[in-house]
Amino acid sequence: MSEAPDTAGETIVLSVVVPMFNEEEVLPALVTRLHPALAALGVGYEVVAVDDGSTDRTGELLTAFRLGWPELRIIALRRNSGHQAALTAGLERARGAYVVSIDADLQDPPEKIADMLELARRDGLDIVYGIRADRASDTGFKRWTAGLYYRLVRRLAGPAVPAHAGDFRLLSRAAVDALAALPDQQRVYRLLVPWLGFPSGRVTYERAPRPAGRSKYPLGRMVRLAVDSVTGFSAAPLRIATWLGAFAFLVCLALMVYTLSAHAFDHTVPGWTSLFTGVLFIGAVQLVCVGLLGEYVGRIYTAVQNRPTYFVGHDTALDPARGPADPTAPLSQGSPGGRT
Ligand code: UDP
Ligand code: MG
Repeated sequence: MSEAPDTAGETIVLSVVVPMFNEEEVLPALVTRLHPALAALGVGYEVVAVDDGSTDRTGELLTAFRLGWPELRIIALRRNSGHQAALTAGLERARGAYVVSIDADLQDPPEKIADMLELARRDGLDIVYGIRADRASDTGFKRWTAGLYYRLVRRLAGPAVPAHAGDFRLLSRAAVDALAALPDQQRVYRLLVPWLGFPSGRVTYERAPRPAGRSKYPLGRMVRLAVDSVTGFSAAPLRIATWLGAFAFLVCLALMVYTLSAHAFDHTVPGWTSLFTGVLFIGAVQLVCVGLLGEYVGRIYTAVQNRPTYFVGHDTALDPARGPADPTAPLSQGSPGGRT
């Protein structure tokens, strides 16, 4: 396995990718815990902080923390691109022989990174999943929807997808390169990674409550993630249209018998309720089917457009000299990010 040298010539064994969006409140606490946890590893490392277009002081704070922590590398995206796209930006630019991704909000314990690295090296694993053993800190609604989500995706994407494994995981260089080679646009890493089929292990941890700041995953984004998970891995929902159509056909047959007999016995005037229900039912079935089709057409549209899902505004690893960035320097590396 090749271990890329960093600019100082030291070998980077571990990259820790931390996507963050408006996390100024939790950032000081993150640095306080992450810095000693990584320093204790005794290997060359970099922290890849991906600032996902934050509009608060996240970028400013990162630059300040970097003064006292040269291993902290900042990749600033030009606009908010979403958690999975920010992860992609970090994974594609990470230089380590192993890459760990972790949330910025300390819900995943940075101290577990040592366990992940040790397990991967000892057993020669390419993937180590962080499994949430205890979600007591989550709300009842989040626990219920998460349970439903993992049951659904395991059915569709196969049992290789570990339940309650979020985006806290370790990947080997080989796994990171395999992911980078995929053409997928709307990526859901918790499904893509198990799908690679690399040898994997697990480290369990307790999901802590967020110490500060608010969740950046409102209901709308959770639904989007669930839709991307399903449509990215299965065309089965399209078959729902067929089944609904067959069901509606049978109902129509029954109704036809009823209407014909009503006509024969001259009872055709009182029929408003059944007529109206029938119209509504057919309308609803058609809208559901068009909506399902639309989700897949939308995926094809995005794939055909093939636009990058993020743009890098600045990467401190590309600064000419180590140390804080020159704020007057032109952002020459602000070209498109990866394809995904
Ligand atoms: N995040 C991001 N871009 C976004 C939304 C979220 O980089 O558009 C980051 C966020 O800063 C955090 C991680 O993704 O580090 C997970 O988000 P969050 O903790 O808000 O999600 P939750 O734990 O509530 O599911
Ligand atoms: Mg969180």
